[in-house]
Amino acid sequence: MTIKLSVLASNCLLCGDFTKRDISLCKACEDSLPRIEHACKQCGIPLENINTPNDLCGQCIQNPPEVDYTVSLFHYENPVSYLIGQMKFQQQLSSAAILASLLDSEILKRNSDMTLPDAILPVPLHNSRLAKRGFNQSLEISRDVAKQKKIPLLIDQVSREKHTEAQTHLNKQQRLKNVKGCFKVLDPPVAKHIVIVDDVITTGATTNELARLLKAEGVEKVGVWSIARADIGS
Ligand SMILES: [Zn+2]
Ligand SMILES: [Zn+2]
Repeated sequence: MTIKLSVLASNCLLCGDFTKRDISLCKACEDSLPRIEHACKQCGIPLENINTPNDLCGQCIQNPPEVDYTVSLFHYENPVSYLIGQMKFQQQLSSAAILASLLDSEILKRNSDMTLPDAILPVPLHNSRLAKRGFNQSLEISRDVAKQKKIPLLIDQVSREKHTEAQTHLNKQQRLKNVKGCFKVLDPPVAKHIVIVDDVITTGATTNELARLLKAEGVEKVGVWSIARADIGS
């Protein structure tokens, strides 16, 4: 059973205006969200120079990550960070519904020649975190796009063995060490092309570790879709 997140009419979570849309976000507020216009196609980090060769950042050219492509919709700043915070820390399910709807409506527009994945893997939460929060935010934001595009969700195939705190203060070496052994593949997926969904990509270390594990199990192509991307290097 899935929780029905949408409501028929409500007030916009951001400006308070009445909206008849089936999410609590008015059209004007949706249009004003801080979209990432130009980003590295492999790691998703926003690029300032729109004439970057091959649309790759320096890091991905020098040292390509395991993740083959990344589509992140918004800069991790207000009001996107507010909506994500409301979902994760205030258990505000109307925020989850907004973010799920945005992912569904925007993700394919960002890369028109992108082939759809065979399966979607929401980043697994550690059981202790799941018990505390009551839901996995990555799973909640994956539901709309999975349903609309008829892509299966991988829910039980990968487990999170340890919880990692935000990794922004760690250097690259420390981050790699920190995520090592973080996940375990319980049931190797048969899909050849998997997209990992996360609410916010900070350093990319977590999704890259998942991609590494999936490829070790024979998955050929691994992408990442996320609502937001923090503007700090990979
Ligand atoms: Zn509004
Ligand atoms: Zn990159």
